[in-house]
Amino acid sequence: MEKKQLNHGINSYFHKKDKESADIVEAACEKCIPKIKEILGLPMPEKCSVYLATSYINFIFFIIPFPLVFIMAFILPLYYFRGRRVWQWAAGLCYSSEKKIIIGVKPLWLLEKSDKSLGEKIYVKIPELQNYLEHIICHEMAHAFCSFLKLPSWINEGMAMMTAEQYYGVATVKKETLQSLDPSAKESYFKKYPDLSGVKKKYFYRYVLGYWFVKYLLEKHPEFLREMLEKKEKQKTIKEKIASELDISLDDFYRELHQKLFKHFQTQADG
Ligand SMILES: [Zn+2]
Repeated sequence: MEKKQLNHGINSYFHKKDKESADIVEAACEKCIPKIKEILGLPMPEKCSVYLATSYINFIFFIIPFPLVFIMAFILPLYYFRGRRVWQWAAGLCYSSEKKIIIGVKPLWLLEKSDKSLGEKIYVKIPELQNYLEHIICHEMAHAFCSFLKLPSWINEGMAMMTAEQYYGVATVKKETLQSLDPSAKESYFKKYPDLSGVKKKYFYRYVLGYWFVKYLLEKHPEFLREMLEKKEKQKTIKEKIASELDISLDDFYRELHQKLFKHFQTQADG
């Protein structure tokens, strides 16, 4: 395993054969970190590492300290099987604890053969693999910046997606994903995607709702968005504050939120 100290206090870990990917990671960190700081208005997180993981089990062994692996041997299969499913189609992962943040990304050769069935339904295609890896670094780095907030998973994803979008200055998510939030839709949005498993549908929804929500806050409630990034709050409190700010009920929170987002962006598209 190779280790290289990058700027901004980041350690980069990679296998020798992945030097080309490691160089892309280094250049991407160099470019995107100052912009992410600016976009989110947050400081660079401490003890942040990037690991070019060649498999999910490698990533697990990398994040769990050596003696702990033995203690965790009993519960590891549980983590492993659940996480491995996500790893197959996720381009990167961000692990954070009180002590450290570890971003796991796939090297170019692994990205090339990854399952893209979920990503291609959400994101605007990035044809060049190098640019794709750069986008992943930007997305995961935004997660690293926000990790101390422990936001609900859908908002956390939306935050990373919108940060990357602001960094690139172009739409990164397909406009048609908005249709999945249409409250009056007669049939399931997923009917046209029979290849998506239940888990992938769950993640699709998490990404898409998060993205349109943060985009909405950015346009309509930027002050509220800024406040949300200021300090860690209980997830229940966050939900209550959103309901109050957006004037939606807590009892029917998600349906009313869908309605609001769909109406706003649909009108924009029509206008
Ligand atoms: Zn993410």
